[in-house]
Amino acid sequence: MEMKTTASFSIPDEEMEYYNKYGKEAVEKGNSGEYEVAIKLFDKMLKKFPNSEFALVMKANFYFNLIASKESADLFPQPKNLKEVPKIRKFYVDYKNKLEKCISMLDKALEINSKNQGAIELKDYIMKNPMNEVLILLEKIDGISTQTKNISYGCKLICPYCRNEYTKMFGNKESDTKDDFIEVCPNCSKEFRVLVGKITLWRSRGTGVVSYGSPEYTIRIKNRIGNEQVLIFNSNYNLLHIKQGDEVCFTFKKKILSSQFSEKPFAILNATTNTYSLI
Ligand SMILES: [Zn+2]
Repeated sequence: MEMKTTASFSIPDEEMEYYNKYGKEAVEKGNSGEYEVAIKLFDKMLKKFPNSEFALVMKANFYFNLIASKESADLFPQPKNLKEVPKIRKFYVDYKNKLEKCISMLDKALEINSKNQGAIELKDYIMKNPMNEVLILLEKIDGISTQTKNISYGCKLICPYCRNEYTKMFGNKESDTKDDFIEVCPNCSKEFRVLVGKITLWRSRGTGVVSYGSPEYTIRIKNRIGNEQVLIFNSNYNLLHIKQGDEVCFTFKKKILSSQFSEKPFAILNATTNTYSLI
């Protein structure tokens, strides 16, 4: 990404003394990668001649090389989780400010000489490449922070064995969340199955006062990506605390003397009403 300027300059007579004193050495230092030293030398020349076309363009060139060498586009960090978003956003904003500083030096040179080929090429390169990239990344990161501001990717669980209550965190991306998974209780280390979704339909039969036996429930739940599944089971309890639209989480124990999980859920944790019902 580093740029070598191909521009040739005619140095005005009055700048010649400063060119010989600082300018020449600045170009040598810059060309050998000592950008910071070069920039300081150009600053000495610019202090005396703020409109030196040569010093402005060459300083911009080496300043750009300095930031590009430190913050190569390949090294643009991506946030690994939501906590990192502000830090990485700041990194991009700082980078954009540095690119703008570079462009303002080039604009100043172009005001003096609109035909300065080195300034035209470098400005064009910055606008089309790193500036364009950083603007896209900023837009993306601002999208992330507004979209996910109110979402926490956790799921409250209660172990069906030891009744340990805890929050399972899925990481910070929505894509990390799971709808149907095997969980290991952090307290008793037993495995249970978890099924998460939204109730789209539920029906019960035999919940009347005069009914006998356990009521049969038919529950349809939909996961995040819209897949639905139906659970049909008998409950030992008369009333499950559920209604259509509730976000729920079923837990399933293992069958006795088997490594398979029972088809009948053990309990429903209703995240919408914050209730826990045994089935
Ligand atoms: Zn447990």
